[in-house]
Amino acid sequence: METKQFKAESKRILDMMIHSIYTHHEIFLRELISNASDAIDKIYYKALTDDSLTFDKDQYYIKVVADKDNRTLKIIDTGVGMTREELENNLGTIAKSGSLAFKNENELKDGYDIIGQFGVGFYSAFMVADVVTVISKALGSEEAYKWESKGAEGYTITPCEKDSVGTEVILKIKENTEDEKYDEYLEEYHLKEIIKKYSDFIRYPIKMDVTTSKLKEGSESEYEEVTSEQVINSMVPIWRKNKNELTQEDYDNFYAEKRYGFDKPLKSIHIKVDGAVRYNAILYIPEKIPFDYYSPEYEKGLELYSSGVLIMNKCADLLPDYFSFVKGMVDSEDLSLNISREMLQHDRQLKLIAKNINKKIKSELQSLLKNERDKYVEFYKSFGRQLKFGVYSDFGMHKEELQDLLMFYSSKEKKLVTLEEYVSRMPEEQKYIYYAVGETNERIEKLPQTELVADKGYEILYFTEDIDEFAIKVIMNYKDKEFKSVSSGDLGIEGDDTVKETAAEEAENKELFEAMKAALGDKVKAVRVSKRLKSHPVCLTADGDVSIEMEKVLNAMPN
Ligand code: ADP
Ligand code: MG
Repeated sequence: METKQFKAESKRILDMMIHSIYTHHEIFLRELISNASDAIDKIYYKALTDDSLTFDKDQYYIKVVADKDNRTLKIIDTGVGMTREELENNLGTIAKSGSLAFKNENELKDGYDIIGQFGVGFYSAFMVADVVTVISKALGSEEAYKWESKGAEGYTITPCEKDSVGTEVILKIKENTEDEKYDEYLEEYHLKEIIKKYSDFIRYPIKMDVTTSKLKEGSESEYEEVTSEQVINSMVPIWRKNKNELTQEDYDNFYAEKRYGFDKPLKSIHIKVDGAVRYNAILYIPEKIPFDYYSPEYEKGLELYSSGVLIMNKCADLLPDYFSFVKGMVDSEDLSLNISREMLQHDRQLKLIAKNINKKIKSELQSLLKNERDKYVEFYKSFGRQLKFGVYSDFGMHKEELQDLLMFYSSKEKKLVTLEEYVSRMPEEQKYIYYAVGETNERIEKLPQTELVADKGYEILYFTEDIDEFAIKVIMNYKDKEFKSVSSGDLGIEGDDTVKETAAEEAENKELFEAMKAALGDKVKAVRVSKRLKSHPVCLTADGDVSIEMEKVLNAMPN
């Protein structure tokens, strides 16, 4: 029986490609530049194994040339080029990747830097161009060929002239439509922006002729346009450099360049991991709180690169919510990407990286707390609330991890202290960790309920944020010490016979208390004698688990 080959319906696949794989049209430039970089990498690789070839880095570059009058955009490279067969095979067949084949033939380890693997990136050019022309001369060949296509209708290959080895991809940029200003892809500043955004860390120079206006020589008012060739990308990503080559200023500049924030970062963390999953990361703990941080608009996430090419602006999976203030980027060679590079195929590697990063952030915060207390306090004033949310969230799953990072204002120290510090100072007979809740420290200080505890010489933690008491209820106890609100019924203070005494006094004055309860009605549950008061005539206390302040928060919550 005859087996017939499926014929790829190129036209439909191409349509699908153009309209559905990529969400942002501007990435066509990233794809073409990645191909150019791969082509140069191939020469580099060949030179490693072939003595007749030398690789002189200065000879290799990528150049982007825009011509507004002719509406063309050229991407020129000095890479390996393509033979007639390669043009046919690699560009004539969708989903065929010459680069993947190259990696396989040469048994390159997975982590090798060549980017291509799906054999579709090239076609993204049709998202912005009506006609795509590729002129190429392969390494070791005397002839050059021209591949040309208008997309769906197919392509032609004809011999042509080209002096040097390499490839030129020429795009005839589409006319503007109502939905899209294709003109922008011919604008210098916009091209520069796209290159910076996606391809900043391609290892070869990406050049462009840039026109600036300058004062004419000898003139004070007359300007002239000067065009000069500039390298647009920074090439060596800072995260690939060794830590000892870098200064704090380098890290601070990168933070500003990337617009992670407008402040100066409080701390930078450079991670290089060469284990089960390989990655480099630069993370920052900001100093100032972003204006939208505690609003629903705030998006957490780290930039994600795959071998130096930007894949995602904000990869949320890399950060737990309680560390959502962390900024920075991760670059890994080990990610499996899907075809559009806009999604991750399997998240096993990503999960490993996230876990790793999480640990690292935690230990950095701990060392900040231990060694640079002032900085930590600064940090805590901005983001402590988020840590407390972290303790409270997910049914307290992360409390063990986070509780040592918490701080509260102390009645004794008159500053923020950790739970560990509190417990280490507790006199032996003190059973509980005491806290008092109020709107401000000043108000708490005046609370009648604090008097007895303070008189005993015990330290009290002041809770001034809604979340404080909720977080503490989740922690339940710290180093076997339970938390106790100073306004709870039984303070558990030794020698405090208030319970017995009050019972007696209450019995004596039964009628008076009944009359008071009748007068106050539903506003109180009971009126009782208190032995806790010194300078105040009355105070309110809560029975049970929920304090008065928590009740206030709960009542204020939208239903
Ligand atoms: P991928 O890069 O994922 O392999 P592409 O569709 O981007 O897929 O490119 C298809 C193939 O065409 C590449 O694998 C490569 O073999 C070849 N190719 C594309 N652009 C160039 C170029 N500038 N120089 C040399 N070969 C190229
Ligand atoms: Mg490609």
